[in-house]
Amino acid sequence: MAITDHVDFNGFMEGVKRRNPYQPEFVQAVQEVAEDIFDFMEDKEEYHAQQILRRISEPDRVVSFRVCWEDDAGNIRVQRGWRVQNNNAIGPYKGGIRFHPSVTESVLKFLAFEQTFKNALTGLPMGGGKGGSNFNPKGKSVREIMRFCQSFMTELYRHIGADVDVPAGDIGVGGREIGFMFGQYKRITNQFTGVLTGKGLEYGGSLIRPEATGYGAVYFLAEMLATRDDGLVGKTAVVSGSGNVATHAAEKITQLGGKVVTLSDSGGFIHDPDGITQEKIDWVKAHKTHRRGRIQDYCEEFENASFHPGKTPWGVPCDVALPCATQNELLGEDARTLVANGCMAVSEGANMPTDLDGVHVFKAARLLYAPGKAANAGGVAVSGLEMSQNSERRAWKEEELQQMLKDIMAGIHERCMTYGRQDGGYCDYVKGANIAGFKKVADAMLAFGV
Ligand code: GLU
Repeated sequence: MAITDHVDFNGFMEGVKRRNPYQPEFVQAVQEVAEDIFDFMEDKEEYHAQQILRRISEPDRVVSFRVCWEDDAGNIRVQRGWRVQNNNAIGPYKGGIRFHPSVTESVLKFLAFEQTFKNALTGLPMGGGKGGSNFNPKGKSVREIMRFCQSFMTELYRHIGADVDVPAGDIGVGGREIGFMFGQYKRITNQFTGVLTGKGLEYGGSLIRPEATGYGAVYFLAEMLATRDDGLVGKTAVVSGSGNVATHAAEKITQLGGKVVTLSDSGGFIHDPDGITQEKIDWVKAHKTHRRGRIQDYCEEFENASFHPGKTPWGVPCDVALPCATQNELLGEDARTLVANGCMAVSEGANMPTDLDGVHVFKAARLLYAPGKAANAGGVAVSGLEMSQNSERRAWKEEELQQMLKDIMAGIHERCMTYGRQDGGYCDYVKGANIAGFKKVADAMLAFGV
């Protein structure tokens, strides 16, 4: 395509769509960024001349591989695995690995693209990447999961390294899976390096890594509320999801004086008007993470709670909402319902949980709305701190890390304000996050030449 491709927004997006057919999630993520970046680039000829946005939205590398493994019945099973290395202008590729049947190349390309901006926003030297497989861990035995993780790493190991590309967890990949993959990397390469983050504490993991994404999303929410001289005390919160991000977000909201009334999974959501207390959160953590149970079982355990099959929780009236499940779980109509019900702030624990229509609704309503690439960056930020600790061959104390996480989230908030502040004191956090993330990566790319 001619280089005029990028000259205006419409032409640029047509090109993105043409080059990425059948990749709706990737096109959506690029569009959400491009909507803000074209304005910003207007008087910056060098970005245009060097095709910076075009280059950032074209992954450096997409590695695709076959993963064969044996199930408990002795059947040979075949899955696809990928690692998308989107951009390493400011540091080694960094980003999670997702195991879920919904994983496609499009999903991983969008996640790697988002990760590039998110990682830049943290202020730490990390590029953007993402990997995963359409493997479904649900219903699999621990031994099957172990064999899959080992086979996955047998393919992946040649593409990663502590200074090359450092994967971590994401949906379907927690500490246990990271352990299996790290073990296999070590076996194959005979190297003990910080090649993965989210590791167990015994072998180079960092304190507060499991809590960091959810806690960080709530710290960001608190920063946004503080701009309106408000806080979480007494606020009713609607949270979606019930995994690592959702349960830790709920925990931090509760600690800061808010009341969480919903959690969800792919089967539906539970509504507990009494509030999901720490004790109940602990039950959810044990039931979901360790026993891999369903969220609907919550209602048998705690009275007054109701289960709403097949539904998302956005119709429940609330002051603040935290989508912490997955992409496109909050649609335009949900956003309109939240606004109509008086919700004042949304902080995204998941990646791109709100569709483009919903983003436009939140922006138009001038809600305090934090996109995932800003709000959920606490997870990858503590991954970055894990990399530092591994390089130094030491471990920081919990209080030190808690403070660093808080400071990093405050720093991200500040960067968003710098580029997102509008008339009347309102901050467009989407715009702020996109421009701040883009500028850092773009300026590094300019420095390198082509
Ligand atoms: N998967 C997480 C994210 O979406 C964490 C990535 C990491 O720690 O590298 O940011």
